[in-house]
Amino acid sequence: MIQLPAIDERSIPDSLKLLCNIYPGQLIFTTSFGMEDQVITDIICKNNLPVKFMTLDTGRLFEETYKVFSRTIEKYNIQIETCHPDPEDLSNLLKKKGPFSFYESVENRKECCNIRKVIPLRKALAGNNVWITGLRSEQSESRAEIKTISYDEGYGIIKYNPLHNWTLEEVKSYIKENNIPYNVLHDRGFPSIGCAPCTRTVAEGEDIRSGRWWWENNTKKECGLHTR
Ligand code: SF4
Repeated sequence: MIQLPAIDERSIPDSLKLLCNIYPGQLIFTTSFGMEDQVITDIICKNNLPVKFMTLDTGRLFEETYKVFSRTIEKYNIQIETCHPDPEDLSNLLKKKGPFSFYESVENRKECCNIRKVIPLRKALAGNNVWITGLRSEQSESRAEIKTISYDEGYGIIKYNPLHNWTLEEVKSYIKENNIPYNVLHDRGFPSIGCAPCTRTVAEGEDIRSGRWWWENNTKKECGLHTR
């Protein structure tokens, strides 16, 4: 049983400092450049913390997402590593099923997410002790139980979710007050942004993640990156 560091009463910068001290060189933050991730990037950079930045480049991202990527590395003068699908896996998938197989069935969609996201992420997380994410409890039904810190059995890593109890309004206020670059798609009705062919706008009052894989009927919309 993994003993998790007691960080609940600490501020986010203090928690990150503590984790950096306990696990030097072993903290990785995965950003998809959504608003939550931009808040975390800002906190890490303002506190000059030794955390590795990594993003998953699935090959199907929006142009606007690459623009935030670019503005972020310019503003903070940081390096963000990218991880990519295995070329052979991708080539086999495209050869067998074409570029839009994910619309055909949940199995096909999961296969694509597995090749483009889960397998590359697993490789990127290997060798690290702490994975920092921008997950928030109110993002969806399946994220309601998220804790500040937990152990992810699937990836064998401690997961730190510093914004787990933040509201969307708090996230937006932080972005505004600190003049942080963010994805312009958020202003165009996309609260949650993933791959371009699998993300659409969401109407007022709809679940934040309902624009992801909108053609599927299940309410627990996850790509397999976050199992809890
Ligand atoms: Fe493939 Fe869509 Fe999953 Fe992206 S979100 S990896 S395009 S199925």
